[in-house]
Amino acid sequence: MWHRSQEECVADNRQHKNVVVVGSGIAGTAAAFRLRRAGHHVTLLEREGHVGGRMSTREVVGERATYRIDRGASWLSHNYGPMIALLQDAGLTSRMLSCSDELAILRDGRVHRLSLVRSSGLLRTGLLGWRAKLKAVNLLRDLTAVGRRLRWEDMSGAADLDTESAHDHALRRLNRELLDYLVEPLCSTQFLVPAEEVAAVSAFCIMWGTFGAASFTFDGGVGRLPEDLLATPVMRDGTRLELDAEATAVEPDGAGVRVTWRRAGREETLRADACVVAVPAPVAARIVTTLTAAQRRHLEAVRYTSDVHVTFGLDRAPAETALGVAVPRREHPDLCVALYEHNLGPGRAPAGAGLVSLVFRHHWSTARADRGDEEVIADARGAVGEVLPELAAHIDRHRDLAVVQRWQNAVLARPAGGFRDLARFTASLDPASPVQLAGDYFAYSTTNAALATGEQAAERLRTTLAGV
Ligand SMILES: Cc1cc2nc3c(=O)[nH]c(=O)nc-3n(C[C@H](O)[C@H](O)[C@H](O)COP(=O)(O)OP(=O)(O)OC[C@H]3O[C@@H](n4cnc5c(N)ncnc54)[C@H](O)[C@@H]3O)c2cc1C
Repeated sequence: MWHRSQEECVADNRQHKNVVVVGSGIAGTAAAFRLRRAGHHVTLLEREGHVGGRMSTREVVGERATYRIDRGASWLSHNYGPMIALLQDAGLTSRMLSCSDELAILRDGRVHRLSLVRSSGLLRTGLLGWRAKLKAVNLLRDLTAVGRRLRWEDMSGAADLDTESAHDHALRRLNRELLDYLVEPLCSTQFLVPAEEVAAVSAFCIMWGTFGAASFTFDGGVGRLPEDLLATPVMRDGTRLELDAEATAVEPDGAGVRVTWRRAGREETLRADACVVAVPAPVAARIVTTLTAAQRRHLEAVRYTSDVHVTFGLDRAPAETALGVAVPRREHPDLCVALYEHNLGPGRAPAGAGLVSLVFRHHWSTARADRGDEEVIADARGAVGEVLPELAAHIDRHRDLAVVQRWQNAVLARPAGGFRDLARFTASLDPASPVQLAGDYFAYSTTNAALATGEQAAERLRTTLAGV
């Protein structure tokens, strides 16, 4: 869709327009990059003091070393076609680093490692008995049927298959063991809630986006990706970035738009030819005045789960080779995954040192949203000691720092029927409107889906603006 020649870009330069992009997460930065490549001037408004949103990385100094900690996303996949194409177009593929392809699942205190690349690993694993392995054929069949309908920028194509929860589907088509030791841990790890609370289609989205391809990460932390995108020559020239700038209203203004934003209590207004609104759904509902009542209701009702997770910097890496050990609800009610972030590749922690994050289910995080860091760290340490005692002892012996990260709106958890709602919503949007929406709520929460929605919004505006 985006493979356009230099000549086309130059031709568009003669008729460039002014476009505002609200939100500098990966959806907004991808939109801004594509609009700049099409020759338009871009103003990027970001509420925080840094870019990247849920795809950002911070440097934290411990007592003995410095760590690069991904605030939200940390893992990327070669299934992420739009992201890889964008990195190619931006000249950033040399920053992609390969990393471990193993995901482990805990059962009865034993860690079972599975390859994300080779599905044959499911046949050999000791995680599942032979009955479950036979039933897994149904999983592959249903995944193929759903996968045919999925597109990264809009997953509403699977709406007619959205008839039940992941829990009910697993009990109907698979069996209890596959539910408890595969479907439930995958749902909890991705959505932070159990399989009852998400659509079966949501569970298939994760498998479609995760399995069958190698993993990669971005040099220096995934947050460098949007930062580096903004630093490419095409962006440096012709892009205005406003940090600490909170958009409060996006309204029609003649054939264009008017965007009001504020910084430190001072309000400013920008007039532009078009706008991409790339913020989480409830914020879009609040600031875009052109939405219909039904569209606003849809955006307000999108469910995000909360995340309060703890990252430990360790002066020695634990021996585990997997990217993470998922903890099924049968093994522990709160802890859903221990992520071995140093296995993402060099740069997160100094050579030989470790970086481990403990991620919890939504109910645990919600209960701790307002508690102090020390209490949260102690609770996290207590929980890991109950199921992964060796890791807990290793943390006690080698702890250099502990950092708490909090997200009120972390990831989408779309319940059964949610893809049908999404289909009604996307069908109601005007692709020729000068205000286009972008964000992971058109798909499921992944950096790549968010990026693809940003590109889709930019492509729609490029077409509309060419006709103005
Ligand atoms: C803990 C966690 C782990 C994750 N792990 C992974 C992973 O390993 N791999 C993966 O692919 N995905 C992962 N994800 C999901 C992924 O991070 C998100 O789906 C994706 O980054 C969302 O991008 P976005 O641009 O749609 O939204 P955001 O990143 O939320 O960007 C929205 C931006 O808009 C800004 N904003 C909000 N309101 C305003 C306003 N009024 N005015 C101006 N700016 C505003 C915000 O500050 C933010 O920068 C994870 C998410 C979390 C929270």
